[in-house]
Amino acid sequence: MSTIIYPSPIFGPVKSRRLGISLGINLLPGDGKVCTFDCIYCECGFNKDFRTKSAFPTREEVAEKLEAKLKEMKAANELPDVLTFAGNGEPTQNPYFPEVIDDTIRLRNAYCSNAKVSVLSNSTFIHRPKVYEALMKVDNNILKLDTISDDYIDKVDRPVLPSYSAKKIIEGMKAFKGNLIIQTLFMKGTSQDGIDVDNVKEAFIAPWLETVKEIAPRGVMIYTIARETPDPNLQKATKDELDAIRDRVIAMGIPCSASY
Ligand code: SF4
Repeated sequence: MSTIIYPSPIFGPVKSRRLGISLGINLLPGDGKVCTFDCIYCECGFNKDFRTKSAFPTREEVAEKLEAKLKEMKAANELPDVLTFAGNGEPTQNPYFPEVIDDTIRLRNAYCSNAKVSVLSNSTFIHRPKVYEALMKVDNNILKLDTISDDYIDKVDRPVLPSYSAKKIIEGMKAFKGNLIIQTLFMKGTSQDGIDVDNVKEAFIAPWLETVKEIAPRGVMIYTIARETPDPNLQKATKDELDAIRDRVIAMGIPCSASY
């Protein structure tokens, strides 16, 4: 299978399905993957296959490389629509994450004031006060909630920390008081370990919708597998299935986009 390990700390720009022309900021080491989840659908591969020996990029390194890239893009008259924190794992794991957010907002204001700052996070550290405060500052605080079932999350998202609980994450999401976008991946099939991974079933959709309503985010992004996955048996949700879910979110009064 082909996996993607992104350069660090800056990669792209890339054309994102969900975000437009996106300049990537990868706060993980560039020689592997470090994540608090080990999703069976992760485009970076399984954690065990991409161990890294390098340190996280520092605050200074990120600011320096980001500024250099923005200068280059400005000179070429190709400024980004969005500066996106993503890459080889969970960005909030980087110990300098709050300071990097401050630097990034400063550089965005200086070089491309129309660009949005987006963070794609799996939500595991949203209870940390400094992470929470930093996420409150960004334009698009995009937090993962694939389902509200701990059993499904244990088998599919596979949290590395034993303390993970969907209930606690949901409470943490409510604390953003609407200043978040929920991201949810829908898929189908049976994993190579024989696990039914279909979260498009009504048994998953109905409680997820109820929880989305309670969290009251300012938006929802739903999507499905787009590239090869480390578990080769997974199947995409169909366009009709995603559209039907999207329409139910919109019917609750919450903007929702679907990417296929
Ligand atoms: S949370 Fe994202 S980076 Fe981490 S394992 Fe899942 S898909 Fe990969």
